[in-house]
Amino acid sequence: MTFRASVLTLYPEMFPGPLGRSLSGRAMERGDVSLDAIQIRDFATDRHRSVDDTPAGGGAGMVLRADVLASAIDHACPPGDERPRLLMSPRGKPLTQARVRALAEGPGVLVVCGRFEGVDERVIEARSLEEVSIGDYVLSGGEPAAIVLLDAVVRLLPGVMGNARSGTFESFETGLLEHPHYTRPASFEGRGIPPVLTSGNHAAIEAWRNERATSLTRERRPDLLASHETAVKMPPGR
Ligand code: SAM
Repeated sequence: MTFRASVLTLYPEMFPGPLGRSLSGRAMERGDVSLDAIQIRDFATDRHRSVDDTPAGGGAGMVLRADVLASAIDHACPPGDERPRLLMSPRGKPLTQARVRALAEGPGVLVVCGRFEGVDERVIEARSLEEVSIGDYVLSGGEPAAIVLLDAVVRLLPGVMGNARSGTFESFETGLLEHPHYTRPASFEGRGIPPVLTSGNHAAIEAWRNERATSLTRERRPDLLASHETAVKMPPGR
């Protein structure tokens, strides 16, 4: 089944962008993924094709109009289309690997890219948009955020990654950051490969990787480690 991504944007020429390359590019060529970038301005009704207006109550910047965006959403995702409707937004819930995995298990997504100061609140409510943030910083538009989200989702679709194992043992999938990697040459600028990795002792290698993943997570993301330790102590269903 094709995973259908529709993106509403004022800059459709930004797509597929990097999504047209590598794993996601090949997935699109095979027809496993379709990506439709739709110009929001095509749904404007006045002769200037305006999509934004000044904020009610005053203040800086402009706001994307609810009526124009609603028409674009209704066109891209008519009643009966069950795809989640996402709005890229710094105020949204932070995107997590768990949410990415859940989206990859669905039929596709509608992604709205904001611009200016943001989007009229009424269309967020009226069209049940789920606000999603890609991090605690502000971009000038939702397009790079949409590309980040779609890249993360598409690589998890069945058949997209060559080695399916690489999806399940990665950072965030196990609750820990991933352990360090090494490859040839055996010596690089005087630095060797940890001897355990060339010992052939698989149990020792796994223990080393687990220890390194845990200590890296403790050092860089203690917040993740706290929830990982709770999950280990309290298996699902308890
Ligand atoms: N005035 C908004 C605020 O303070 O929350 C920022 C608007 S930003 C300049 C314009 C658009 O970029 C947003 O509507 C959103 O679509 C997108 N955007 C900016 N930062 C983002 C982030 N961290 N995650 C997802 N989308 C983001």
